[in-house]
Amino acid sequence: MSRTVAILGAGLAGLRCGSILHQAGYDVQIYEKANRIGGRMMTDEINGFLIDHGFHVMQTGYPTSQRAFDFEKLGAKAFEPGAVVVQKKKTKTKFWRLSDPFRRPIQGLLGGLSGFASPFDLLRVARLRQFVRRGNTERVFVGENNTTATFLQQRGFSQSMIDRFFHPLFSGIFLENELRTNERMFRFVFRMMSQGDMILPKGGIAAAPRYLADLIGDERIHLNAEIKLIDEHTLQVSGQNKKFDAVVHAYNPNRQESKRHVWTLHFDAPKSPLKSKHIVLNANVKLENQLIAHIAVPSDIQSSYAPSGRSLVTVTVVGQAAEKRELTTSDAIQEQVMKELRSIFGAQVGDWQNLAIQHIEHALPEVGSEQALTGQPSESVREYECGDHTVHGSVEGALLSAEQVSQRIIESFTT
Ligand SMILES: Cc1cc2nc3c(=O)[nH]c(=O)nc-3n(C[C@H](O)[C@H](O)[C@H](O)COP(=O)(O)OP(=O)(O)OC[C@H]3O[C@@H](n4cnc5c(N)ncnc54)[C@H](O)[C@@H]3O)c2cc1C
Repeated sequence: MSRTVAILGAGLAGLRCGSILHQAGYDVQIYEKANRIGGRMMTDEINGFLIDHGFHVMQTGYPTSQRAFDFEKLGAKAFEPGAVVVQKKKTKTKFWRLSDPFRRPIQGLLGGLSGFASPFDLLRVARLRQFVRRGNTERVFVGENNTTATFLQQRGFSQSMIDRFFHPLFSGIFLENELRTNERMFRFVFRMMSQGDMILPKGGIAAAPRYLADLIGDERIHLNAEIKLIDEHTLQVSGQNKKFDAVVHAYNPNRQESKRHVWTLHFDAPKSPLKSKHIVLNANVKLENQLIAHIAVPSDIQSSYAPSGRSLVTVTVVGQAAEKRELTTSDAIQEQVMKELRSIFGAQVGDWQNLAIQHIEHALPEVGSEQALTGQPSESVREYECGDHTVHGSVEGALLSAEQVSQRIIESFTT
């Protein structure tokens, strides 16, 4: 008879753990307290648009994602490497296209000559890229343990480059407004971005957990589950005690303590405001204390994100940036975001319809400079606990922890 494993939580970590164990012949039962799978990776369909919960991408550079997913089966399509930076100065709005010069040499060279960054800063970016790509991934998790802001200063970047490029890009990824995130996390993300693509699955971000759930089978995934832990091996499921050979905790028991939050606004636009498939960074977010960090048009990448003839524009506002301006309601955030959008894209914004404003609380766990981030699951959690909170707040963190817990279970029953 096969060994029985209960997994609590059907986010990415629980599903990855379940798919590995199911494929290894274990009898896996997943109990999810919400009414759908996916945890933080969810997508709603609104008026024919695919609306992800927060702007969310997958990275083909993540080693664990390469093992867990078949990007082709997900119908994944990629953003152009690099970014467009927008800055409004007095009455003039300027867009700079910063292509990755290593992957798009000609466009990169033109971008380099556009005057956005000094030749010294461009050289520092090239050196940084070389530095983070050296050796294996573990290497980015050794060495200093400062904040991202300190790391960038120590590498000699000008304050203008930090404020206008690194700040909008990484505040929108780390979901904090000070670049206080551990420099090791910065090195990890920068490495992943420089060696892979940012992609969107055809079915929205929820297609990633769906892909894993399909490997397991819906009949083994129980939604709206009310579970009581009786002991290490026993769960009370709908009032009845059930014994398992192992119980995995695939959720963060202290998620309420994750203070990083984000507002995401989604708009239905008659046409895309962008000329290229890049993410747009707002160079004024720090300098002018603005709200918008990123703007993306997912439907330019995946046409499935919008009905035919329409475009989906998605705007990211870091929760801390809104707090700083004491904006706490959807209406207040939308009013300010519309003002900023109008100053960037002009009158066309008047034709955009708001589809959704999401406030995602407890979005990411804290990874400050005081934590000795190792890139490996923390030893302070339970033996069979997984989830991004045990490594670092990312798809990679969730998947890596899940792989390790499933391997530990397999080893414990084969030795
Ligand atoms: C807005 C946003 C954007 C992001 N963008 C990116 C990105 O671009 N790239 C990237 O790498 N990462 C990104 N992330 C992070 C990524 O989404 C997470 O790291 C990953 O989804 C975490 O998966 P998880 O399984 O660890 O946790 P979760 O997704 O939180 O899953 C935990 C699951 O457990 C369930 N649960 C909780 N308690 C119980 C219980 N007692 N019993 C049963 N079930 C329970 C929950 O309902 C949930 O379904 C983003 C996150 C957010 C919020």
